[in-house]
Amino acid sequence: MSVATSKIVLKSPREIELMRAAGGLVASVHREIAQLAKPGSTTAEMNELAGQLIRDAGATPLFLGVRNPQARFPFPACVCASVNDEVVHGIPDDRPLREGDVVSIDIGVRLNGYCGDAARTLAIGSVSSRVQRLLDVTREALDVAIEEMRPQRRWSEVATLMQRCVERRGFGVVREFVGHGIGVEMHEEPKVPNYFDRALRKSDFELLPGMTLAVEPMVTVGRPDVEFKNADRWTVVTKDRSWAAHFEHSLAVTENGVEILTGD
Ligand code: MG
Repeated sequence: MSVATSKIVLKSPREIELMRAAGGLVASVHREIAQLAKPGSTTAEMNELAGQLIRDAGATPLFLGVRNPQARFPFPACVCASVNDEVVHGIPDDRPLREGDVVSIDIGVRLNGYCGDAARTLAIGSVSSRVQRLLDVTREALDVAIEEMRPQRRWSEVATLMQRCVERRGFGVVREFVGHGIGVEMHEEPKVPNYFDRALRKSDFELLPGMTLAVEPMVTVGRPDVEFKNADRWTVVTKDRSWAAHFEHSLAVTENGVEILTGD
């Protein structure tokens, strides 16, 4: 057993039940926000709607007030909204979305002590065929993980298949940001990368029933390297300013596969 595995908290059926409730709320907020995915909407409007729905359900938005030692201020919104070349951790604002844009919305909540976390990239009106392929392949990489995860499988096997799915089509897999264990805390052990290389061998782990993981491929049209967009050190953009997409589900490993906790 690796060091990483020993720190992974397996959840009881009762805990997974609570995570299913938190995840169901995340899914329903995503459905509502998707209605705003049209030209002229703003990510600030999406954030406001999400905050209202989360609080109306008696839950807490996970990202609001998160501290990042590198950043100038705590995260100021309920959702992350990352537009076009922004990859993750975008701050919602009043810029109207335009036909052909994409916006990655990441939503996390805590409900009755347990967390749910999911992201999806929304197309604003009709997008170019290349951008549509970006969205499709990112979603497909997450689907590969959902199909391939099962007890006794090592994460590296799943991550290798996700990476292959993306790279064989000429897209890039972001390395600097990865998925994570989830439960009582938004970020628990282990780290869940969307690629595999030799440097990750020591932190590889075996999937076991009761593990709850947020799997979240971040994919780029161009090179996968990222940097902070500006001095606030929150919004992450691609270095080459190519566009990016992000799909995420919170998943529970079952006896023979996975259950999607944030599914529709
Ligand atoms: Mg997330």
